[in-house]
Amino acid sequence: LQEERPMKKIIDSLKKYDDFLLVSHLSPDGDTLGSTAALFLALKQLGKRAVAAVDGAVPDKLRFLNDYCEFCSPEVLSKEEFECAVAIDVADIPRLGRLKDAFLASEHTLVIDHHPTNTEFGEYNLIDCKASTGEVVMEIIDSMGAKIDDRIANCLYAAVSTDTGNFIYSSVTEETLKNAARLRGCGADIPRLAAMIYSERSLGATKIIGRGIDSLSLFSNGRIAALSISKKDIEECGAKREDTDSLINYAREIKGVEIAIFVNELSGGRAKVSLRSNEYADVAEFAKRFGGGGHVHAAGYTDNGSVEEIRNRAVEYAA
Ligand code: 5GP
Ligand code: MN
Repeated sequence: LQEERPMKKIIDSLKKYDDFLLVSHLSPDGDTLGSTAALFLALKQLGKRAVAAVDGAVPDKLRFLNDYCEFCSPEVLSKEEFECAVAIDVADIPRLGRLKDAFLASEHTLVIDHHPTNTEFGEYNLIDCKASTGEVVMEIIDSMGAKIDDRIANCLYAAVSTDTGNFIYSSVTEETLKNAARLRGCGADIPRLAAMIYSERSLGATKIIGRGIDSLSLFSNGRIAALSISKKDIEECGAKREDTDSLINYAREIKGVEIAIFVNELSGGRAKVSLRSNEYADVAEFAKRFGGGGHVHAAGYTDNGSVEEIRNRAVEYAA
């Protein structure tokens, strides 16, 4: 019953209001963008007004989402006050980036997420720790009385697939696979989506893999692996920031590694740190110590300093 209450509040709000701002998280990934686009299409189906927004670019591999849903950047958001703002896959207020003000200025605020570290910053918060926010949104769309057509199915499939490492993480349950099967039945174009998301790679994206691997080192008898990418690496390889998203897997997949650390330089003397663990380490706790969050086996935070300093600090903490 406790879980039903937030679901009911969210459904009531989505049915009752008519003018929505849907917000994805900073450094957007497939789960946040796919889930947002799916909810956008479902609200449109019910004849509502909705605007989707994100602080950051839609990665090339997810460009098909742009055909379904325009993602506004914070500076072109046409108005500041919406009847209802919905944050999707956003664990805390800093993850809204420059959309924080527009979100908080809205008359009503909803949070739909699956991160156990979610700070419940909305008026109503539906935090359901499924493998992806896509599955939470799928349940919402059903309860709203919208139909999962082929476009919504493509969005949700992209969300579920990307947040589960294409269905291999320990977060994958029987329900996750049943949901994926249902999306296939609703028209998700799996071969096309898989090619776009996982195989089609630019030259720059290919070269940056080499840079990442070159920077790899092991610590604590091979229990910790760290790698890093600087802005200069990205520039020299002709890569984009989004091309570095899966580099951490090369650290995580080394036999014997428990904690993988990836330091990705941002502007202004800061860097984004991604963390992964294989079996027993709780990297969500680790990330929280540095002001971030996430899941037990996948988490992240932003730190200040040079890439070297940030990397040393993270390795030291992990050891
Ligand atoms: P990634 O390393 O792929 O960016 O993120 C891994 C997981 O950690 C994701 O679930 C993501 O939402 C979460 N995460 C990454 N960076 C941050 C952060 O700065 N703050 C919080 N709260 N979560 C983060
Ligand atoms: Mn997610």
